[in-house]
Amino acid sequence: MRRSVNFTETMQSDFWTNSSAFPSTREAALDRLVEFEKTASRYGRDRNHVVPGHQNVSRLSPAIRHRLLTETEVAKHILHRYAFSTVEKFLQEVYWRRYWKSWLALRPQVWTDYLRDLDALEVCEAAQKVMAGEGEVEIMNDFAHELVETGYLHNHARMWFAGYWIHAMGLPWQLGADFFYRHLLDADPASNTLSWRWVAGLQTRGKTYLARRSNIEKFLHPDLLQGREGGLELLANHQGLNPSAFIRPEIKEPAYKHLAVDPSLVSGFWLHSDDLSVDPKCHEVFLSEDLPASEVKAQWLREALDDVESRLTGHCVERAPITGLLAWAEKKKLAQIIAYRPEIGVLNDQLIEIEKALEKANIRLVLLSRGEDDEFQSLATAGFFGFWKKIESQIRALK
Ligand SMILES: Cc1cc2nc3c(=O)[nH]c(=O)nc-3n(C[C@H](O)[C@H](O)[C@H](O)COP(=O)(O)OP(=O)(O)OC[C@H]3O[C@@H](n4cnc5c(N)ncnc54)[C@H](O)[C@@H]3O)c2cc1C
Repeated sequence: MRRSVNFTETMQSDFWTNSSAFPSTREAALDRLVEFEKTASRYGRDRNHVVPGHQNVSRLSPAIRHRLLTETEVAKHILHRYAFSTVEKFLQEVYWRRYWKSWLALRPQVWTDYLRDLDALEVCEAAQKVMAGEGEVEIMNDFAHELVETGYLHNHARMWFAGYWIHAMGLPWQLGADFFYRHLLDADPASNTLSWRWVAGLQTRGKTYLARRSNIEKFLHPDLLQGREGGLELLANHQGLNPSAFIRPEIKEPAYKHLAVDPSLVSGFWLHSDDLSVDPKCHEVFLSEDLPASEVKAQWLREALDDVESRLTGHCVERAPITGLLAWAEKKKLAQIIAYRPEIGVLNDQLIEIEKALEKANIRLVLLSRGEDDEFQSLATAGFFGFWKKIESQIRALK
């Protein structure tokens, strides 16, 4: 008789604890991209299947989320080998991140409302059980363990887990989103929050996502499901909770201060975990290191920062928590700090205080953005496929 393999077992080999599973250095991410590229033409067909080892997907999301690789680099690389039509599905997925980030940047109140709601919620016993992997549906318990132990879940498993949490368990989506955010290596304020809202039926009018038993049986590899079917009957015919309060959030044009770099000033560069692409324009670099509570996530980020630091040869680097930025700038007698603008999310929330403190010390903070990010941002006014239509020719031209 075939024995079932659970996620924890498949994840326990050294592979899952070294950086080739979820590359944490630029070199490892490029190696993984080269490896993935060999199968990229099958991605559209295979991507929805959850298989042991997750070989059918790129597993590059932590690297792309923190910009060890940019979306443009990934797209260029893949288009070098394949016709656009062969890899369009993969390219669309890569640009979903820019779409979600752009969508949220135009509606930042969705992020602040989420944080406010989260703050007001209590973690009930049922939620605690599901997060601890002690709920009634065995396969969902496996997903909870996989998430906490590896920092990753396949996209379909994320959808099933979120659907189960919201619609079968009746738990608040904000608590589930927070659980994911605390553990995912690729935790991204936009992709995570908006995907949870989408499953809850708050993102697209009339659309909720239900984790159906039949769908799980179709897309989850039998080796992962066998012997773990307990509780699946709860997902056979359940109904979606109907979000009574669907509101289309208003678009607010971002009111960024667009300061230009003043080349006459003594300047330093602030590199942070929202954008670890190494191209600092200054000799002095502050690499902010604020490690998350999850040890798995903290380890990944530490490795990524080690990698960045090792590539900053010829620069004078100080690595410390963000609270040390002002003291560093004063010590180096800087009049200007340059950085890539943090996206809507945790780091960006600290900007007001940071800017105030720097202003008091007479230090300018100049926030840069990449041209294509700015351009794409203005296009996320409606759904993804409208957005894709508008950017498609630009992506094709990357070939
Ligand atoms: C409830 C829920 C929460 C999620 N939370 C996050 C999150 O916090 N951070 C995150 O990066 N993704 C999130 N996703 C999206 C998606 O699940 C992951 O990006 C994907 O599983 C990453 O694995 P991969 O790199 O192997 O993806 P692949 O299938 O290989 O896709 C290639 C790349 O495209 C991007 N991508 C793929 N799917 C999506 C998507 N749906 N949205 C945005 N970008 C995508 C990623 O950068 C990924 O590396 C969430 C999805 C759901 C349903």
